[in-house]
Formats: sequence, C-alpha cells, structure tokens
Amino acid sequence: MTRKLGGGSLVIATHNAGKLREIGALLDPYGVKCISAGSLGLAEPAETGKTFAENALIKARASAEASGLVALADDSGLSVDALDGRPGVYTADWAERQWFEGDPGRDWHMAMGKVEGLLQAKGPEVDRSAAFHCVLALAWPDGEYAIYEGKCDGSLTWPPRGEMGFGYDPVFVPCGSELTFAEIEPAAKHAISHRADAFAKLVAEQFGG
Ligand code: IMP
Repeated sequence: MTRKLGGGSLVIATHNAGKLREIGALLDPYGVKCISAGSLGLAEPAETGKTFAENALIKARASAEASGLVALADDSGLSVDALDGRPGVYTADWAERQWFEGDPGRDWHMAMGKVEGLLQAKGPEVDRSAAFHCVLALAWPDGEYAIYEGKCDGSLTWPPRGEMGFGYDPVFVPCGSELTFAEIEPAAKHAISHRADAFAKLVAEQFGG
C-alpha cells in the first residue's frame, strides 16, 4: 500500500513561484502546507532522466534528502507520436536559443516550428497525434516514493493559434475540442489538462477514502 502524506509541511521541488502557488492552492484544502525548495535554498539537481518519471523522482528525492521533509516534484512535456515521443523530456530544451550567447530566454515559437518542421518532413499524411504528460513524484526522506502519471491526448495544428497559456499551448488541440490550449480559458484548460489528471490521481490516493 502506498504511504500516506498526512498533514504538515511538504517541500515543492521547484524554484518557480507560479508553480508553487498553483500546487499550494490545490493541496491547501487537505491541510498540506507547501514550501518551495527555492525558499529553503536547496540546489536544483540536473534532470538526467530518460523519462518524465525519472526526472520527477530525481527532483523530489534531492529535495527530500536535503530538507529531511517529504517532497513533491513534477516533470512535464509534449510527446508526438510520429516523432517517436519527441521532444519528450527535452520539451523545454527545444526552446533554448543556444546560438544567442548570453540570452537565457526560451523561444517557444522556434520550438513549435521545430516540431512542425519534423512533422511536415514526413509528408502531408503524417499522423499529428500528440499528448502532454505530467508526472508527479512524492519522495520521503527515507527513500520511499510514489509516482502519479497524468496525460492529455490531442493533436498538433499549424499555424499556432491563441494568446493564452504558455509553451506549446498554441499548437495543441486537446481531444474533443476544436480550439487550441491557448484559445481556451485557463479554468477550462485546467479541468482537462495533464496536470489536472496527475493531481486527481495523487489526491484520490493520498486523501480519498
Ligand atoms: P517542466 O516540467 O517545468 O520541465 O516543463 C516542461 C516543458 O513542457 C515546459 O517548459 C513547456 O514547454 C512544456 N509544457 C508542459 N506543460 C505544458 C502545458 O500545459 N502547455 C504547454 N506546454 C507545456
């Protein structure tokens, strides 16, 4: 049986204030107080895993070991069927503007164009199926862990459409919709997203019944 969280503090293995706020709001109703790895001054480990689950676990374990508290980490990205699952764990890396030295920003239009270029190179009949994935890892300081995998199936469209959301949202059309993730209200996206799916599984197991 999976170990249960109970109340108390949970370290969120992120240095991103937006992610901390979002996760904190989701877990607040269950009496869990979230603190970020950033605010504890914990280092960010290299994400050397080959899967979302491996990377989420690397991050959760690093925070749990360094803080002595239970830690939660997420890893997410886009996998495209016709590209054998790429960009996968390299989803954010495909937006790195490596050739602009000294500019740490990410270029999402370039990343979406890279995916589209590879798809178009396969011909007009190419399968445009894709999925966003989100894996959550909970790690206890003694090494025990739990993994929750969320997914949102859809397809890729071109050119990009919509102004909301972030990352690859303007080219991702979730199943059952004609609009991209960047064209639907954030609340509607959050109801069906890969992140919502993963959190629903965590909440069901950790706090349900
Ligand atoms: P990470 O999980 O913070 O490493 O992010 C992985 C990358 O996946 C992000 O930088 C985004 O490019 C992409 N991604 C993850 N979730 C979404 C989403 O909901 N919409 C668009 N892109 C996403």
